[in-house]
Amino acid sequence: MTTYVRQFICLKDNYGVLLHDSATGATAAIDAPDGEAVIAAADAAGWSLTDCLLTHHHADHVQGVPALKARYPDLRVCAPAKEAGRIGGVDRPLSEGDYARVGRLAAKVIETPGHTAGHIAYWFEEDEIAFVGDTLFALGCGRAFEAPPAVLWESLLKLAALPGSTQVYCGHEYTEANARFALTIEPDNAVLKARAAEIAALRALGKPTLPTTIAAELATNPFLRAEEPSVQAAIGMPGVDPAAAFAEIRARKDRF
Ligand code: ZN
Ligand code: FE
Repeated sequence: MTTYVRQFICLKDNYGVLLHDSATGATAAIDAPDGEAVIAAADAAGWSLTDCLLTHHHADHVQGVPALKARYPDLRVCAPAKEAGRIGGVDRPLSEGDYARVGRLAAKVIETPGHTAGHIAYWFEEDEIAFVGDTLFALGCGRAFEAPPAVLWESLLKLAALPGSTQVYCGHEYTEANARFALTIEPDNAVLKARAAEIAALRALGKPTLPTTIAAELATNPFLRAEEPSVQAAIGMPGVDPAAAFAEIRARKDRF
């Protein structure tokens, strides 16, 4: 038995992702940015969707749900309990510590509020895969639309505590712009500089920069590095509470 993941660009820079359990044939769409694109990807793979795992209520993550339900009448839609009312058509509302199952695969639900108040991530521990929606991006993080930055910081700490080898799938291909910003915070981080060059090369070829890993983000993502003395010095806030340093970095990125 094997776990397969297929990732594809939807809309402009959203990622659609399919997760397939070959033992049972179960297949999940992670978010539903574009129903037609998700169905086309499933058809191309020869997979039939059984589940849809939604991370948060934003339209660019849920607007494909009606099309998916029309094509797959038995589709089971999982979504954050705190946002199920806003999303509609949710079959399984999920909260912290709940499990979402896709055939024999199981994801622990991690509540990651900040970008939206009820945002959740799905952690497939056994497969070392996490789907983090718009909470964490490669070299970036989501905007704190529905909570103070300190709340998003706590959510990022939960993701940062996952095993370093965890493959992290994010909601958007924002990495190249994120790298430009990250270099303004840590221009002397050699690992970041090397990664930025790799990212530029991938994007020049039109290739995805995701998935990333928790280890790679800990080494290069300025938002996860708000505790680092070098980062705090770079933003002129040495010795400050990491949540405050994070809020300053988030504010700078909002203006970038
Ligand atoms: Zn969003
Ligand atoms: Fe989004």
